[in-house]
Amino acid sequence: MTREDLLHLATAFRDAAADDLAQVQQVADIHWATFRAHERLDNLEAQLFEGLAVKVDCKAGCAACCHLAKIDARAHEIFALAAWITEHFSAEERAALVERTKAHAEAVAGLTLSQHLRTVRACPMLRDSKCSVHPARPGVCRIGHSTDVSTCQRAYENPDDLTARGGHNPDLKASMTAAADGSTFAFIEAGMDRTTYDLSSALHEALSSTEPMHRWLEGGQAFSDSAKAKQEHQREG
Ligand code: SF4
Repeated sequence: MTREDLLHLATAFRDAAADDLAQVQQVADIHWATFRAHERLDNLEAQLFEGLAVKVDCKAGCAACCHLAKIDARAHEIFALAAWITEHFSAEERAALVERTKAHAEAVAGLTLSQHLRTVRACPMLRDSKCSVHPARPGVCRIGHSTDVSTCQRAYENPDDLTARGGHNPDLKASMTAAADGSTFAFIEAGMDRTTYDLSSALHEALSSTEPMHRWLEGGQAFSDSAKAKQEHQREG
């Protein structure tokens, strides 16, 4: 996979998302554009699995990667996910998820990047070892795949050893990342929040109040500073 290939892929995904965003008239249309971007990623993954003859070792019920607590996402993905949850979860399921995301947010708020990367903690959306929001999960959860489940197990059992991660096809991961970045760029170019957030901390805010949505629609930072993804400069601490 050459640099030009990746640039071409990112541009194609940027252009496709920009075309969708050009049709937006209301908030639901932004969610639609987000889900369309997710769908294109899924289609790309299926093509790459076949084209690169990738041996995928992911299995239903294996959720090791959903315990590696640092899952980052953008505001448009988080609001689309929140809307999907409100539509598909019962009131009780939604309330329980709000409590789990609250506990997650409180647990990770004070962590440095280094500590967060080494934290093993079930994603609040994980239920019975399955993703309860699978159709609406963010791009980062669509990029992940494993060619060797023993690598995932090693990372899960040795959270302090960050070198234990990485059982993936490098061409596939680079292509999926370029495509996802291309889609994200279209949302940023359309004037939307460019901040990277901790998925579950920001989701807690999205499910708990309408204020983040108002800030987002006004072009501001949707979620609080404590919901921001840990950054490189926080590694030492
Ligand atoms: S959103 Fe779903 S796929 Fe992503 S980490 Fe959480 S449980 Fe796993």
